[in-house]
Amino acid sequence: GLLRRIRIRNALPKALVHAEFELYFQPQIQPFSDRVLGFEALLRWHSPELGEVAPLDFIGVAEESRMILPIGTWVLQNACATLHELNRQYNADFFIAVNVSGIQLYSDTFVEEVLAILKENVLSPHLLELEITESVLLSHERGTIQKLNMLYAHGVRIALDDFGTGFSSLGMLKDLKITTLKIDKSFVQDKKNLALMEMMIRLGHIIGTQTVAEGVETEEQMHQARRLGSERVQGFLTARPMPLSALKSYISSRTE
Ligand code: C2E
Ligand code: MG
Ligand code: MG
Repeated sequence: GLLRRIRIRNALPKALVHAEFELYFQPQIQPFSDRVLGFEALLRWHSPELGEVAPLDFIGVAEESRMILPIGTWVLQNACATLHELNRQYNADFFIAVNVSGIQLYSDTFVEEVLAILKENVLSPHLLELEITESVLLSHERGTIQKLNMLYAHGVRIALDDFGTGFSSLGMLKDLKITTLKIDKSFVQDKKNLALMEMMIRLGHIIGTQTVAEGVETEEQMHQARRLGSERVQGFLTARPMPLSALKSYISSRTE
């Protein structure tokens, strides 16, 4: 309710300096081989006053107050540093997917910041996938598409998150360079409308992107993602988002 929102707004400014944030990681796997390809970083806030606060309850508040700028920088830095550590420890080339808010993209220094963070962490740009939602592009903020295309030109991967839930899904594909379509879980989980999921996967292939089936919770959904040719699958069936220590056990158990 409103009171909680106010308490979130009051508690948020201290969260970063008091180190109350943590990144969780959720694997994305190749549906045929079960091979782990990479991870999506998902932000968690352990607040001493409010308890666990879900991202959907505080990201909006952080955007309004522009706190999302330092938080977003922390997320990018932390995600990239963790990936560097994991790839070294497991001699792997996993990628990391990071959610980016529109407010971050509208900032003039966003492109430089991303490139600087990659460099500091000695990461190849193609190991970073930035996830953006369609709403980011609908706002007529100038330069957003150019900034994303510039990062794409540097090799950074660009994913459209929650694909299919926005309004202008097709129109934006004219101008924006993307590498990945993340098909929203509402399509992946809807048995009666498999045709829509199939269409989105085919669309992805026609325009030369990979597709990720999000929110795969059952064997049946996994089977469909495999049958329809989605390159990647992410969901509770494979693994829930988990802290770094659990992620390491997960990777170890799969690579023996
Ligand atoms: P998203 O980017 O679409 O992330 C996927 C969400 O689906 C995550 O929720 C994840 O826990 C959940 N999920 C994964 N597999 C399944 C499944 O099989 N079934 C179901 N029902 N859910 C599944 P989470 O972690 O609560 O994050 C919610 C949203 O908050 C994210 O949606 C993203 O939009 C935003 N978010 C999270 N972390 C960040 C961040 O670091 N920065 C920004 N700007 N937004 C973030
Ligand atoms: Mg996402
Ligand atoms: Mg999503």
